[in-house]
Amino acid sequence: MSTIAAIATPNAAGGIGIIRISGEAAIDVAARCFRPVSGRKVSEMPGYTAAYGSFVDGETPLDDGVLLVYRAPKSYTGENVAELCCHGGLYVLQRVLNVVFSLGARPAEPGEFTKRAFLNGKMDLSQAESVMSVISAQGEEALSAARGALRGNVSKKIEAVCGSLVSAAAALAAWADYPDEDIPAVENEALAAALADCRDSLRKLLRDYENGKIISEGVRTVICGKPNVGKSTLMNLLSGCPRSIVTPIAGTTRDVVEDTVRLGGLLLRLSDTAGLRETEDPVEKIGVSAARERLADASLALAVFDLSCPLTAEDEALLQACEQKTAVAVINKSDLPAVWDIGEVKKRIPRAVVISAKDPESLDRLRTVLEETLGVAGMDFSQEILTSARQRNCVAEALDCVEDALRALKNGVTVDAVSVDVDCAVDRLLALTGKRASEEVVDEVFRSFCVGK
Ligand code: GDP
Repeated sequence: MSTIAAIATPNAAGGIGIIRISGEAAIDVAARCFRPVSGRKVSEMPGYTAAYGSFVDGETPLDDGVLLVYRAPKSYTGENVAELCCHGGLYVLQRVLNVVFSLGARPAEPGEFTKRAFLNGKMDLSQAESVMSVISAQGEEALSAARGALRGNVSKKIEAVCGSLVSAAAALAAWADYPDEDIPAVENEALAAALADCRDSLRKLLRDYENGKIISEGVRTVICGKPNVGKSTLMNLLSGCPRSIVTPIAGTTRDVVEDTVRLGGLLLRLSDTAGLRETEDPVEKIGVSAARERLADASLALAVFDLSCPLTAEDEALLQACEQKTAVAVINKSDLPAVWDIGEVKKRIPRAVVISAKDPESLDRLRTVLEETLGVAGMDFSQEILTSARQRNCVAEALDCVEDALRALKNGVTVDAVSVDVDCAVDRLLALTGKRASEEVVDEVFRSFCVGK
């Protein structure tokens, strides 16, 4: 395979910049553009060693730095790898990289280093995908899930399910030789139980994936309520800086203000909107219709009510609008005397939290309610959690096949028919780990990577 090279650090000035070279000729290429001050020969450096020296273009010195050498198969890609650690200036890095290219390496494509690691059996496809999840993780929980997948948690779980399915398929193949194709009753039960176990494991993976997405991608959340209930104040409390205009005059938040905030492990993609009131003001009308659209679109609604003012027709409109949604009632201004009974709102939106948006201590209570509402309370993110939509689709397809197999078994369909379903499930799971993935699928996975990874 050809020798590839790319700048592995971000495309910006920094303290250190790293050029990564991988392939059979990687160390030879490094030897021709790096002179160790010790005078030792790069070609004789063992794996996992470093040397300090100069990067050169022929006889012209370009920069001083460190060369790291990894020898196949003990490297990230499984090939010979050299890492040139230069000063992190974009020009100097590009200059050294051009020398590396002139010595025979070619530019690496996005994700090509990790693709080689996959092709060389260093990791399976689900682990390779989690490399990008580690890079894009925006919080402790997302990182924990991504690292778990990178260490092989997902792969192990899938292999376990796959193993049970393969045993089931083997048993079915054996029974297929029975003259009347009937599975003995006892075995039939054991087989059904094994398939039901697989079904439950796959269902759990799908459930956790949906919850995990809340952590990694965030939840589209809309803050809604009539003017003056404290939506902007709540938005500012959540985002920690004044983004919305807060005034005591009703109707000041006309446009949709957006922000992404982290609340504990949750990532909320927030928009704060105008209220839902009937209005003749043309500008405000636009705001109100945007609010309705946002509400319809959002995965989570924070419906804000003002405990210090009587409930109105507009509050009623909001209660109605929230009926079909995942909603949390935020009963605000608890620092002021209450003029209505909290039960009024609670019986319509059971998940409710009483707060004062002016008091930062409200955040903890809000977080607890949101975590419970979104089903992530107490979730262990170091367990196996699928890290891509591709993996999710493979599991969903495998689950369909297992459910078909269970149905077929129950309805006394022929052994062959059950076998087809079980084989299909195995096939989908092998596609997930990449053991039986087409070249197009593999290419697609790595296309989303950054160059140098
Ligand atoms: P919005 O129109 O729903 O966005 O409401 P704002 O956030 O602009 O708040 C309207 C008024 O209520 C402002 O004067 C806020 O300072 C005030 N306010 C908001 N939250 C609270 C609260 O918890 N307690 C009290 N006392 N006042 C609040």
